[in-house]
Amino acid sequence: MGVVVEKKVENNVLSATQKVIQEAINKLGYRDEMYELLKEPVRMLTVRIPIRMDNGDVKVFTGYRAQHNDAVGPTKGGIRFHPEVTEDEVKALSMWMTLKCGIVNVPYGGGKGGIVCDPRSMSFPEIERLSRGYVRAISQIVGPTKDIPAPDVFTNSQTMAWMMDEYSRIREFDSPGFITGKPVILGGSHGRETATAMGVTICIEEAAKAKEMDLVGAKIIIQGFGNAGGYLAKILTGRGAKIIGISDAYGALYDEAGLDIDYLLDKRDSFGTVTKLFKNTIPNHELLKQECDILVPAAVANQITGENAHEIKANIVVEAANGPTTMEATKILADRGILIVPDVLASSGGVTVSYFEWVQNNIGYYWSEEEVAEKLREKIVSAFNTVIHTASLHKVDTRLAAYMVGIRKTAEASRFRGWV
Ligand code: NAD
Repeated sequence: MGVVVEKKVENNVLSATQKVIQEAINKLGYRDEMYELLKEPVRMLTVRIPIRMDNGDVKVFTGYRAQHNDAVGPTKGGIRFHPEVTEDEVKALSMWMTLKCGIVNVPYGGGKGGIVCDPRSMSFPEIERLSRGYVRAISQIVGPTKDIPAPDVFTNSQTMAWMMDEYSRIREFDSPGFITGKPVILGGSHGRETATAMGVTICIEEAAKAKEMDLVGAKIIIQGFGNAGGYLAKILTGRGAKIIGISDAYGALYDEAGLDIDYLLDKRDSFGTVTKLFKNTIPNHELLKQECDILVPAAVANQITGENAHEIKANIVVEAANGPTTMEATKILADRGILIVPDVLASSGGVTVSYFEWVQNNIGYYWSEEEVAEKLREKIVSAFNTVIHTASLHKVDTRLAAYMVGIRKTAEASRFRGWV
């Protein structure tokens, strides 16, 4: 479960995303009408879902589903359950999904969904009724060839299983390809749970190669020790890297000699908290400034800003989290020659394996964990090289390059369809 209490990706997340998309579209040489089409989702549904709570009362929840653009193929993106979900956030996140799908070259446009609710204060049966109610409310616009949801913040494989079951009941046939991130027994893919961390790892390996850095012995700091950060620390340790710093919402641990990741993972709670158990912690913002080779923000948005970007000592910053670096900080880091692997590229392992899950559901033949890992590597390495090549060809920073790569496919497909 992506249980990050994401400090609202950013209040102006929609306008920030629109700004970079506009820049990318201009750089690619499209006319303004292309931006007019792509600056908002083509479809945005708001639903009201009445749910009978355990105490007998009826509570009405608000839900959203955004479909950014379906020129390339069906839309795809997670569903988050969070009290701070807003229409603008869901819109922006659907646009990020278009970028991610374009970057890893999978045949989807971006989608996203959300329900304004707090599952931490709801019972299991209440969450099940809400999940099923949401699917009934949006069923007209979703489906295996229309729009394919997946897990996101506070939703998990169990939520996906209920939703898939509800959709199959409505349609009166088994529809595993309606949703991804399912349990393996219901048609989920091997490797889905670790897909994001694997994608980040592959980006780190490629970035190290580009900087002629040996990953064995490389000193790495990871901010955030939840789903993404925890798996990542484990995988990187297995590759011979030295994790010298980790953090959670309460503080950071730093040891130049390397931390015992297995021990910390064993002690971590289900919200990714571990530092509370230690006395010798340092503040989170101090961790980011420590000497290291590679820095991986894997927690919340807006962590590297105009204020601290000058003090970052890493040679490479790989963004596992969504939106951890502001635009101002991106410029500072790029000017200092620090290689940034932007979020839309680094965290695209999840949607890539979701695509593999959908393909396996469609053909009814299932791949081994090794096959999934190999196919994921192929996709991420190719995406990484395309972004780096685009950055050097157009003399732009890697974030703008990633947006250019990400939006190009959707723009081209929209043009061929005669939409613009
Ligand atoms: P999570 O809830 O499992 O873990 C979040 C971690 O960050 C926890 O250790 C928490 O204590 C820590 N944290 C929270 N606030 C912090 C702060 N201010 N400073 C330092 N640490 C803080 O979440 P996750 O699923 O690991 O997601 C982390 C980030 O990665 C998010 O931005 C998410 O959108 C992004 N992401 C995750 C996935 C995924 O598959 N899990 C996929 C794509 C992107």
